[in-house]
Amino acid sequence: MEVSSSVARKQTRQISVGDVLVGGDAPVSIQSMTITKTADVEGTLQQIYALAAAGADIVRCTCNEIEAAEGLARIVPRSPVPIIADIHHQYKMAMAAMEAGVDGLRLNPGNIRRPEHIKAVAAEAKDRNIPIRIGVNAGSLDPKLYEKYGSATPEAMVESAQTEMAYFDEVGFDLIKISVKASSVPLMVEAYRQLSEVTDHPLHLGVTEAGPPPAGLIKATAGIATLLLEGIGDTIRYSLTADPVEEARAGRQLLEALGLRERKNVDLIACPSCGRAEVDVIKVANEAMEAFGDRKLPLQIAVMGCVVNGPGEARDADIGIAAGNKRGHLFIKGQNVAVVPEDEMVDQLVEWAEFINEHGIDAALERADLDKARREAEKDRAKLLDEQGDDANHANEKIVQIRSKV
Ligand code: SF4
Repeated sequence: MEVSSSVARKQTRQISVGDVLVGGDAPVSIQSMTITKTADVEGTLQQIYALAAAGADIVRCTCNEIEAAEGLARIVPRSPVPIIADIHHQYKMAMAAMEAGVDGLRLNPGNIRRPEHIKAVAAEAKDRNIPIRIGVNAGSLDPKLYEKYGSATPEAMVESAQTEMAYFDEVGFDLIKISVKASSVPLMVEAYRQLSEVTDHPLHLGVTEAGPPPAGLIKATAGIATLLLEGIGDTIRYSLTADPVEEARAGRQLLEALGLRERKNVDLIACPSCGRAEVDVIKVANEAMEAFGDRKLPLQIAVMGCVVNGPGEARDADIGIAAGNKRGHLFIKGQNVAVVPEDEMVDQLVEWAEFINEHGIDAALERADLDKARREAEKDRAKLLDEQGDDANHANEKIVQIRSKV
């Protein structure tokens, strides 16, 4: 039974970042950030295209010097996705980025602190209809807030965002989204919860400086998924110490896994392997992951270690492969459809998946010689059961041993 997300999302106001809607009933969007020098126009564009292909809806580029702003003037018109300029310390860089034509700004209230500068940027953004993210970061709060609260508490982070909002309010600017990121998951979760109580502006979720994968992926997922499942969050970014394509891919995969975005790419499932495995499941699963890459195939694909249990355990998968007797058994919705040599099974899996994507499950089942595939599968299944019995992990033997020792 397919259970899709039943999360009631908190209603927020909607803004547009270029042509991407954020907040309200818009799907949760995926963001990432380039790590090139923004002045390197071709290198940055190449990365933006790679990020968009991996699932990013919006990309942020640093605008830290005049050469970066000039680069943005060349990048924005050629970018496949809206571009946000990341601004720290120098409010003039925000002005320059707007002149360059960016679709949004991110300001850090912790390091652009003079009210007249903040208001000047907001007034200009209002005239140009450009949204601004108030990007609070636990590690760079206004020193006065550290003094007042003793450390970067959720309350301090929310106050930082509210102070910035009040300045924006003074010039009548409300195209706002807000983030209160921290590298501590419990801190960021609590800060976002408190923030969502006091504002209906859309929220941008992230665990900042989460670090390299896999720990960084786990931290970011823990924080972002917890909030999304509470209905909080309108746009997300994984901050990983890795190729930013990993960030975009992780964001997309998380939203697809939570049922918050329609599946566009392969959902690869694989058994954990066990004593029955007839093949190195980890290796085959990795080969399959690589072979599918970012192909636009919205299918669930299974890699299973043995033909004894594989097709049955993965019967909900659109297509899968199970190993047995040095052969790969392809199955569609649990039905065996073909038997191929073991070293061809990943290629065949890709070929059949492409076929299903183009012609559908029924056409693929029609294309198969089902009787032959079933017979061959039965043969291998029977052989393995014969060799391994139904206790392939020798658990019964071990239990007898354990009992003899107590
Ligand atoms: S029984 Fe087969 S499919 Fe299940 S975990 Fe073991 S090898 Fe994988």
